[in-house]
Amino acid sequence: MKKQDQVQMRRQNKYIVLDAIRQMAPISRIQLSKYTKMSPTTITRIVQELEAEGFILEGVSEETAIGRRPTLIHMREDALYTIGIEIDCFTIRIGILDFLGKLIAFQEVKCSIKHQYEEAIYLLKRSIENIMTEYQIAQDKLLGIGIGIPGVINNEEGIIVSSEQLKWENCHIREDLNGVFGCEVIVDNELKMQIIAEIGDIYTPQYSNCILVGIGTGIGASILLNGEVYRGIQNKAGEISHITINPFGEMCHCGKRGCLSMYVSEVTLLKRTPKNLNIQSIEEILQCVDQGEQWAIDIQQDVATFLAIAINNLVCLYEPEAVIVSGEIIEHNVTFQKLLSEKCKQYIWKELQPYFDLQFSNQLKEGVVKGAALQAQKQLLSV
Ligand SMILES: [Zn+2]
Repeated sequence: MKKQDQVQMRRQNKYIVLDAIRQMAPISRIQLSKYTKMSPTTITRIVQELEAEGFILEGVSEETAIGRRPTLIHMREDALYTIGIEIDCFTIRIGILDFLGKLIAFQEVKCSIKHQYEEAIYLLKRSIENIMTEYQIAQDKLLGIGIGIPGVINNEEGIIVSSEQLKWENCHIREDLNGVFGCEVIVDNELKMQIIAEIGDIYTPQYSNCILVGIGTGIGASILLNGEVYRGIQNKAGEISHITINPFGEMCHCGKRGCLSMYVSEVTLLKRTPKNLNIQSIEEILQCVDQGEQWAIDIQQDVATFLAIAINNLVCLYEPEAVIVSGEIIEHNVTFQKLLSEKCKQYIWKELQPYFDLQFSNQLKEGVVKGAALQAQKQLLSV
């Protein structure tokens, strides 16, 4: 075996052992050896390395009546941290994820950063500094920062190609933040980040093939195929805003008629509310639904219909294990969830119906932040 291959294999083995500890801690060396099928000598070497690097802790063994109990290995949740960030037009959300994948801090910063990229960078730096100070995270413990942004993102170069919502184009966000906090920065479309938070533990995910549909300022989707985020050739896969729902419908700003975003996004829904009521938020529309206002009920019915049609299109293409829907209009809104389930029964192709699994996100505001931080951990961790 070549030297290079040996180094690669050692690294791989170390990953496997660390993942096993993460999943099963507290665990003994003997159990680790059985589970990973590595020799006790290899396990001992790797465990010693991981402990020296501060990733794990070995507990003290105790003497008992039946003999000496094996020493158990624990993960150190404070070994490394990652920061997750979601940027939206009026809010920057930020959180800290510990090494075990738990979000230990979450904050929202209200702002107005449409057209204001420079202002956003300034706010980002300040928010990161503030949260790290408040939670006493030392810079050398910060593994990296993950940022989720609505729009088309060149994830390899860390560039925001274009964001319809934020009105930003060609912004080199990774370059503008790299090195500021002595760590790496990864950037991606917000739903491509969020899907990682939706599937449970990144190392033992609940689904390998699923689709996340997110309704916010716009509408989008992200697709997980065989455990990997499907990106297409330019990371634009999942941009369902512009799939045609009605060829004779309303004119979209993209120049086509009847795009999905003209029927389902929050902006479009707010436009449909009666002018005299001066409704400013989705929450207000939902309150009117509860109060039995017919115009609000009609809006909700239409959204459910168009969403079910869009979901059917996605399911026919990918046949996923589940479709997860997220967004303020749907999360924790049982009436709307029931309505969408009924519409899906009506619109999902009958061959796929028996296996169709509709789920609703319960991440609320934390989904993108958690997913971005998890992605940063997964991508940047090298042991
Ligand atoms: Zn369009």
